[in-house]
Amino acid sequence: MLVGRSIRSHLIRPMIQVRVLQFSSASAAAVEAERTIREGPRHDWNRHEIKSIYDSPLLDLLFHGAQVHRHAQNFREVQQCTLLSIKTGGCSEDCSYCPQSSRYDTGLKAQKLMDKDAVIEAAKKARETGSTRFCMGAAWRDTIGRKTNFNQILEYVKEIRGMGMEVCCTLGMIEKQQALELKKAGLTAYNHNLDTSREYYPNIITTRSYDERLQTLKFVREAGINVCSGGIIGLGEAEEDRVGLLHTLATLPTHPESVPINALVAVKGTPLQDQKPVEIWEMIRMIATARIVMPKAMVRLSAGRVRFSMVEQAMCFLSGANSIFTGDKLLTTPNNDYDADQLMFKVLGLIPKAPSFSDDASKPFEAENCEAASASG
Ligand code: SF4
Repeated sequence: MLVGRSIRSHLIRPMIQVRVLQFSSASAAAVEAERTIREGPRHDWNRHEIKSIYDSPLLDLLFHGAQVHRHAQNFREVQQCTLLSIKTGGCSEDCSYCPQSSRYDTGLKAQKLMDKDAVIEAAKKARETGSTRFCMGAAWRDTIGRKTNFNQILEYVKEIRGMGMEVCCTLGMIEKQQALELKKAGLTAYNHNLDTSREYYPNIITTRSYDERLQTLKFVREAGINVCSGGIIGLGEAEEDRVGLLHTLATLPTHPESVPINALVAVKGTPLQDQKPVEIWEMIRMIATARIVMPKAMVRLSAGRVRFSMVEQAMCFLSGANSIFTGDKLLTTPNNDYDADQLMFKVLGLIPKAPSFSDDASKPFEAENCEAASASG
């Protein structure tokens, strides 16, 4: 007996040790991804927790981003969106990355608001080529005092929504009343990026504050419009700032339904023209962390995609991205080729995502739904 017990304990002890070793080496990405899958989205993240996820070994972070993605989303679906600049250039703001600021000499010619026929034509073309969301961008600080133009945009929103597309606008800061009018016109989402962390923000923009940005997001949310808000990496910020951005977004009372992750496209003439291009590993780190901390958001692989190969983009989709912008241009900068994108969908087995007009993202996280989404892919 004694001998038998001693042999058993001799065998069991190393097994326990191995398990203890496995547990003690579990990365923050593994621990938090499992918790997200088990308990659903959280809004009480602290910065240290998000930093620990972000700092997890890259392949582990990618793997666990993918796990959350498969539980919370239909992992084969990727939404195609088109972003049209409906009023280009001449902007009074000083966003250091932006060729549309009138403060920088980028050779971009300022234009007036595009007329209705041209905008609707562009939306029809976008729909025909597979886009289910049409975004309209205007280079303005805000919409105050632009009643005529704003009313025109309300018409565009109504018409495009009537075509069965999701409609998003990015028009700078808006007031409560304007958010309500946009909602009434049928706007699906309003984009207003936070760009970077609160701490790094003054290095990038001085003409409006971080709190003003958050105020616009609040008006959008209160009007019942989905929030689209993300940021840009490659602005010269530290990793801590990337974490700070995700922390602000992930601790909003309701997570944004849409989180664009942009890699800076450095444009000649802007203060950031000489920034080093963002590496794919940095994008994957950012996307996977965003997916783990905001599982139900659409994580959009946005500006800078043009520099990434199909294999690199595949890793972004695997780690949690589920949307791209298609079309010749992304506002004023070049975008990926249409045929190359279609080939990518085919090769990777991706499915274009249909438009969604429900506010699903505000519903409670349900494990069963997540499993169904995962299985249906
Ligand atoms: S507010 Fe928009 S358009 Fe104007 S400079 Fe900033 S990013 Fe560019």
